[in-house]
Amino acid sequence: MVKTKKKNRIDFSECQFCGGLPLSKTHIWPKWLAGAIEPKPYHIVKRTDRSGNGTNKFFEKVNNDLFSVQPRISCQSCNSGWMNKIEKEVLEFIFPFIGGTWPEEISYENSRALSRWLSLICINAELSSTLWTTIPQFHRKMIMEGSSVPNHWSISIAKTSGDIWKRQRSYENYPQKIHFNQSLSIHGKQRIFFDHTQITTLGIGGIFAQIVTSPDLEIISRHVNMSGRARLISLHPNAAGKSISLKNVVTLSDLQIDFFTQRKPWFLDYIKTQISYSGYMSIRNSDCKE
Ligand SMILES: [Zn+2]
Repeated sequence: MVKTKKKNRIDFSECQFCGGLPLSKTHIWPKWLAGAIEPKPYHIVKRTDRSGNGTNKFFEKVNNDLFSVQPRISCQSCNSGWMNKIEKEVLEFIFPFIGGTWPEEISYENSRALSRWLSLICINAELSSTLWTTIPQFHRKMIMEGSSVPNHWSISIAKTSGDIWKRQRSYENYPQKIHFNQSLSIHGKQRIFFDHTQITTLGIGGIFAQIVTSPDLEIISRHVNMSGRARLISLHPNAAGKSISLKNVVTLSDLQIDFFTQRKPWFLDYIKTQISYSGYMSIRNSDCKE
């Protein structure tokens, strides 16, 4: 794999899923989404760069429509084959979610399809980022081969009401090693840093989605657990192949989404999370524009 960095562009010499050729332009966001969400001549990407000693969080304005971003990530046969199939599967049920009129539950099959689709967006967004990649190749292969999303992923969704997240299809990517200067206690164990943990937050119309990938399953289970407490819907992992009730899903304003995209992962410190989360929830009514 040869990766050349050129400002906002990354060139690959082979398909990042199967290794094949020829490469084709890959839509990170499918074209059909452009019809479902208000188009915009630019998009804003919020990034956190942890490659240096400090932590640099920044917004990057990219002067094209998000739907026109087509890096050459995958080969023609991946693109028109299994990737296309993943998109087709969600097309059958996704539009009410994007429009904010969610059904009362999502079937196991649809939750699985949605998880795979969100994972694919996350993987492609990461590959097209100029920052480092942390998702291992065998995870990409699992998605390609039609398996479930790997165990080392947690995918949670909620409704959004905020203008920014609804219209800009923003995504926040943390494609870096997450380092902590101070130690954190999880289940009584001291941890100094988490290697190769990635948090990706997507806004897709009425859908807020947060995808966490980590080699450390405790981080994954913490995200699942805390998502439940925050009334996000945990799509993956989904035990026992059951349908998932969506009745109690929270509707998040832009300000509340700030809480879920804060620099230090919101789901790691339970006490602090409880306090700051309550703070965000209390301003909810005045902030919601629905
Ligand atoms: Zn391929």
